[in-house]
Amino acid sequence: MNSVPNLVGKSAEELRAFVEGMGEPGYRAAQIYHAIYAERRFDFSAMTSLPAALRERLAREATIALPRILRRHHSSDGTVRYVLALDEGKPANLETVFMPEENRQTICISTQAGCAVDCRFCLTATLGLIRNLSAAEIVGQVLVALENNREALKPQTNIVLMGQGEPLLNYDAVMAALRILLDQKAVGIAPRHAALSTSGIIPGIERLAHEKVRPNLAISLNASSSEQRDQVMPINRKYPLKKLLEACRKYPLKPREWLLFEYVLLAGFNDSIDDARRVVQLLANLRAKVNLIPWNPGDLPHKRPDRNHVEEFQRVLLEKGVPCFIRDSRGQDVMAACGQLALSEAAASSAVHASS
Ligand code: SF4
Repeated sequence: MNSVPNLVGKSAEELRAFVEGMGEPGYRAAQIYHAIYAERRFDFSAMTSLPAALRERLAREATIALPRILRRHHSSDGTVRYVLALDEGKPANLETVFMPEENRQTICISTQAGCAVDCRFCLTATLGLIRNLSAAEIVGQVLVALENNREALKPQTNIVLMGQGEPLLNYDAVMAALRILLDQKAVGIAPRHAALSTSGIIPGIERLAHEKVRPNLAISLNASSSEQRDQVMPINRKYPLKKLLEACRKYPLKPREWLLFEYVLLAGFNDSIDDARRVVQLLANLRAKVNLIPWNPGDLPHKRPDRNHVEEFQRVLLEKGVPCFIRDSRGQDVMAACGQLALSEAAASSAVHASS
């Protein structure tokens, strides 16, 4: 096991302290910061802005360690689902999804291995919480996905913290990673192109409200009443819907910022026209958009509603002035879609179109 420090995941200040600790001038830290995160140079010998002697010393006294790609599953729609291996000594794999589009790519990253929140429509929940990911592992997922698609990258990158895990239950590591990902001198993703999705951890939402740089906030709603939400999201007993919506109303939105509410439609459970009307009432006085996500089949006892039904649900919201979009998750054939990330290797490999 490598005992030298890993520079991935370190902030500009942490790198400065490290470099000064080596007796080097502090400005070298800014060069290393830029080289790792903006230029994706993962080998000290390629950091040509540094003197040769320092590069050699860094190679002995530090490392640039990223999650290793164990497997890649390629979907027919272009989505790639990565299974990555984490640090030696801390066993657990994690999953990252890369979704290319015409003018941009979206990377869906995990913030925990497994998840303790236990949403009843989500395969990740079946794993339980394995462990929190470090800032290095969260940033590392984005670096690996970008580097692995270097030749095909589009000008814009979006990130969504919607993979395995509840980001607000790993708050410090998630924010440390986001400060690097959203820093224009580092990975350089625009904050408006980043979204963090929570099951409704109210103390985390309250903390996020005070962050200077933060992603868009998405709330996983999935029910039209508190009683109904209890049945699919046990976290609702701890942070009930009424209090959650109060926290949302207090959330200080910037001009042109919206709250996004995600609503997984489960046929016969939360997808009736009355449900749609109740959702409209719940979201009254909120600057909110809604994403409807028809449930993605997995090894769980739910049904996907048919398309007409989903469109009827959408119409009710649109008629009442609530912006509402239907999101057909990508990568379903390789188990990369929303709620399907559970290291379900057997299920995925039977559906893989090509893997390299
Ligand atoms: S939906 Fe998100 S918060 Fe809920 S169990 Fe799955 S990973 Fe955890």
